[in-house]
Amino acid sequence: MVTFLSGGTGTPKLIAGFKEVYENFSVIVNTAEDVWVSGNRICPDIDSVIYTLAGLIDEKRWWGIRGDTFKTHFRLKSLGMDEKMMVGDLDRATHIFRSEMLRKGLSLTDVTERICQSLGISQSVIPMTDDEVATKILTPCGEMHFQEFWVEKKGEPEVTGIRIENIERARPSKKAVNAIRKSRSVIIGPSNPVTSIGPIIGLEGIRNELEKKKVVVVSPFIGNKPFSGPAGKFMFALGLSPSPRGLLEYYGKIIDVLIVHSGDSFESDRCEIVETDIIIKSRKDAERLSRFILELL
Ligand code: GDP
Repeated sequence: MVTFLSGGTGTPKLIAGFKEVYENFSVIVNTAEDVWVSGNRICPDIDSVIYTLAGLIDEKRWWGIRGDTFKTHFRLKSLGMDEKMMVGDLDRATHIFRSEMLRKGLSLTDVTERICQSLGISQSVIPMTDDEVATKILTPCGEMHFQEFWVEKKGEPEVTGIRIENIERARPSKKAVNAIRKSRSVIIGPSNPVTSIGPIIGLEGIRNELEKKKVVVVSPFIGNKPFSGPAGKFMFALGLSPSPRGLLEYYGKIIDVLIVHSGDSFESDRCEIVETDIIIKSRKDAERLSRFILELL
């Protein structure tokens, strides 16, 4: 078995192809970007992974369900309830079910398993923790939740730091730790290192477990830039460059193999660096990259 560490865009893009070439894997997913909207808990990264594995993901936006409608969202708006995030009607059913089960006392890990079963997903999708943690972005105009920074403020404020609230007290999901222990290797997909993977490896004990495994990292950076999203700003805020070199600095000892884009490799005595085309524009691209990774494992 292999285990992925995932956020909500780059790694799901890869997983969409990986599932076509290899079946036996688990995905540990970031929950630090979760938010409560209109009384329901939205887990954007978990939902993207689930919808990807179920073949339902909207591949244009890389969130939500393909073909979903937004009638409830707009009706709420006309009632004066302006949801800060767009929430699709079918997608909302997932959030209502999840929140109701959480209120009944089920853990996020158990609810996620039930959602996966209902969609016929054979892989394990595992929240990194059952405790609530939240990524806070520090800016000159104050500290804000990741979603406020990214969705409401469109990632525009200057970033001076990143803080993961409650990460010291949160415990990793037991299922997540077991998945790593049972895996031959771990793949850190091309996700935002600071806000998608950072919270997972920031949980007590996870780094330690990863150090015992062969860890393959796929770069979310091409040259000195991310493919998309705010990862560049976040790396700079930590004093690192948004490049494969910066990635190596960030992950430190846990990396065994770093996969970078063709032409991006460099000499390092810290880990093996291999290059290939890491641009994922289609399922075929994702399948090709997945086969490349499997050969390395
Ligand atoms: P989030 O939870 O929505 O922030 O998503 P992730 O953290 O999983 O993914 C965002 C990262 O995916 C960004 O840092 C992008 O650079 C990376 N990314 C997006 N598209 C691609 C791609 O085609 N190839 C690679 N290698 N990385 C990508």
